[in-house]
Amino acid sequence: MKLTFLGTRGYIDPENRRHRMHTAAMVTYRGARVMIDCGETWLGELDDLSPDAVVVTHAHPDHVAGLMEGCDRPVHTHDDAWRTIGAFPIPKKHRRRLHPRRPKRIEGIRFEAFQVVHSTRAPAVGYRITAGRRSVFYAPDLVAIHDRSAALGGVDLYVGDGATITRSMVQRDEETGEPIGHTTIRAQLGWCRDEGVPRMIVTHCGSDIVGGDERKAIREIRALAKERSVEVEVAHDGMEIVLR
Ligand SMILES: [Zn+2]
Ligand SMILES: [Zn+2]
Repeated sequence: MKLTFLGTRGYIDPENRRHRMHTAAMVTYRGARVMIDCGETWLGELDDLSPDAVVVTHAHPDHVAGLMEGCDRPVHTHDDAWRTIGAFPIPKKHRRRLHPRRPKRIEGIRFEAFQVVHSTRAPAVGYRITAGRRSVFYAPDLVAIHDRSAALGGVDLYVGDGATITRSMVQRDEETGEPIGHTTIRAQLGWCRDEGVPRMIVTHCGSDIVGGDERKAIREIRALAKERSVEVEVAHDGMEIVLR
């Protein structure tokens, strides 16, 4: 399968040449094209991208606002996200439901949603994506993964949340007291080590990466990865990787 990092910017003001578009990816396998997320900066771009289907992680604007004027191809997501994006003018025939831990083939690519801790208003999932012999776990926004061992066990690559390198961005929801926000890249590298995942690619880049000296940030991330015996890369808009 091929993974194209269409966008790699988180929901932040800073942007630059490498991180301009909101975090989204295209999974390509045997001619099928499935787009993951379609945030604000993608509004009006769907026809050019021409995915066969769109899969959504959660209903924050940097992941779904590109669908607010509708979408003339199938959109797959879980009920929590439909509660918000159900208001968008997406034709009924294109509204497809996904259920956590119930794998579904979308255009020949297997997607299994795992609930992640991120937001109480916009509950999120990550996707374990399998095509051919390769599996990837894709989770751009999260504090933690429910069923982490099932989500990450045996995957070739973890694509994770780049909002912060080591600074905590976890808060408590005022009403429920549940943790919300983003865990650190350091913690996610630890998950990779613990679950035997050899490689992480950082997307949804935050101001540590986009707002400052990116080379310095990458050096810091590489050092953290090395200590945990994980390979790491920071994605940039347009980056492609092929897993064979
Ligand atoms: Zn986001
Ligand atoms: Zn989010």
